[in-house]
Parts: sequence; C-alpha cells; structure tokens
Amino acid sequence: MADLRHPMFHDEDAARAALEAVRWPHGPNCPHCGNIDGSKIAKVEGKKQSHRPGLYYCNECKGQFTVTVGTVFERSKIPLSKWWLATHLLGASKKGMSAHQLHRMLGVTYKTAWFMAHRIREAMKEDVKSSGPIGGEGKTVEADETYIGKRETPRKLSRGRIAKPTKSGKAGGAQKRIVVGLVERGGKARMFHLNDATAATVRDVLVRNVDRKSTLYTDSSRLYTRTGEEYAAHKTTNHAIGEYARREGDVVVHSNTIESVFSVFKRGMVGVYQHCGEAHLHRYLAEFDFRYNRRTVLGFTDKMRVDAIMEGIEGKRLTYRSAHEAHHA
Ligand SMILES: [Zn+2]
Repeated sequence: MADLRHPMFHDEDAARAALEAVRWPHGPNCPHCGNIDGSKIAKVEGKKQSHRPGLYYCNECKGQFTVTVGTVFERSKIPLSKWWLATHLLGASKKGMSAHQLHRMLGVTYKTAWFMAHRIREAMKEDVKSSGPIGGEGKTVEADETYIGKRETPRKLSRGRIAKPTKSGKAGGAQKRIVVGLVERGGKARMFHLNDATAATVRDVLVRNVDRKSTLYTDSSRLYTRTGEEYAAHKTTNHAIGEYARREGDVVVHSNTIESVFSVFKRGMVGVYQHCGEAHLHRYLAEFDFRYNRRTVLGFTDKMRVDAIMEGIEGKRLTYRSAHEAHHA
C-alpha cells in the first residue's frame, strides 16, 4: 500500500501536481491544439490573472487549460485528492473495495462512491484492440468458463421451459451468469461475460483474443473441441473423470492458472461485491484482470498500478447514464 499520508491524498495542489506528472511526463501539452512545445506554454501565475489553480496558457492557440481538461475530472466536483485515494484503494486491494466502504473512507455519498468506482474500473479496462491477442508461438493459453451469481433474466430453455432453481433455492448452472476466462501462462488474463456459452460464442472470444499460434489448454468440454483445431495444438484434461493434470513428456497439461484467476475473482465477488448488476459485470471483470495483469510478481508496484489507472482515465468517457447500460462481451 502506498503511503496514505502523502499530500496528494488530502491537498488539491499536491493532487494536481501528481496528475500533471502522470499525464504530462515531458511537460504540459495543450489539449486544444495539441501543442507540445513547452517554450510556447506558460503557467498562468499571479493573483490578478489566475482564476483557477494549475492554469496554463498556450501561445500557439491562445487557449487556456488545466491538467483536467479532456478527462473525467473536468466536470467533476469531486476533489482530485479523493480520486487519487479511491484509485489507490481500488488498485491496491487484492479483492477490490465496495462502494459502501469507499463511501465511508472518502467521505462522499454512496452514489458518488459507486460512480467513482465504476469510472476507475472503466479506466482499468484493457484496450484489447491496441494490445492485441494474448499467447503466440511457443506460448500456452488456458481457457475455461465459470458460472457465478444468478442471471437477472432467466434463460429460456428449449420448448419454452425455464430451468428451476436447485432444492436449496440457488440458481442452477443454467441460470447463472457465464464468465469465460483466458490466461497466458506467465502473462495476461482476460475474462468475459457471455450471455450464452455455445461453441460459437466461445470461439468468437477465443479467436479475437488468443493468437492461433498458441497451444491451447482446456477441459474436455465440447465448447472447445472444434475451435481447438484452429490452434497450433489443443490439449485437454478430462475433469469429468477427475483428471486435472496430466504429464505429457516434459509438460504438464492442466488449467490451474485460469482456476486461480477465477478463484480470486469469485472470492472478491462473494466477499466484497455482494450485489453486482449483470450490466456491470464486465467492469468488475476488467478490475480483476487489471490487478492480475499488473501483479507484483511481474514487477508491478502499487504506484505503477495507480499511474496506469490514471493514464486510462484520460479520454475515456463514462457518464452516470452510460454506466447503467448493459454490456456483454
Ligand atoms: Zn494550444
């Protein structure tokens, strides 16, 4: 955990300076005209001119700006120091932090804490298009699916039947939310919320996110049989007969890595986020992916995690309204 006594967590000037350091590592650049020439940008100082602290003047376009222009903070009434604090708390807590706890720790309303947390999750979301698929030649990717929580709209079965809950009242497998997870051994994980797990929907996730030169490890589920043929190799273990690991020459075929990714996610969802709307599940998945992909053993520190979130917050838009819209992978 970072030192929460740092001024950036309670002093607005320090919080702004910290944001400037992340957004502008090479000095301020103008959000209006894109000018990055520091000699043509001046800090507006002095009591007469300065209405807003942290104001800059661009000689190129004669415009004024601060570091929050073009970010979610621009129109936010929430102090930057509280954004830093919330980002630290979410970025450094292994299983996340509930909006209730953020609300108490930050001294903001529950609704504000909820909105901030979803904004931060949005900033944690990996830009899959720019980072490209995981895996590759000589790499191993494990894929599996898991079922969590109850679906909000029960799935209709064939001939209009609706699956009944189990005797204990819990949702049966068919009425749970479906998450497909992919993880490159020693590398990144990506999890997706699917409305339906079929060979076609799972294939779509796989081919868009896993390099076909990879070796694919799955269980013997039929979801992966055909798609597995598109990969350099496809190895399976048969969970149905209790086979979870199998030695094949020098390698051990197993899907323990994705199991452990799911396990952290599930403990977080059960222990911290007890009530998660189905429409928001993709953002919680992004949060757990983010922390896994920047885990300590890969050399990431709390500061690096938080700076990565702050970089992600720039340019991404999420209004209160769009935070409520449904989203499937
Ligand atoms: Zn300019």
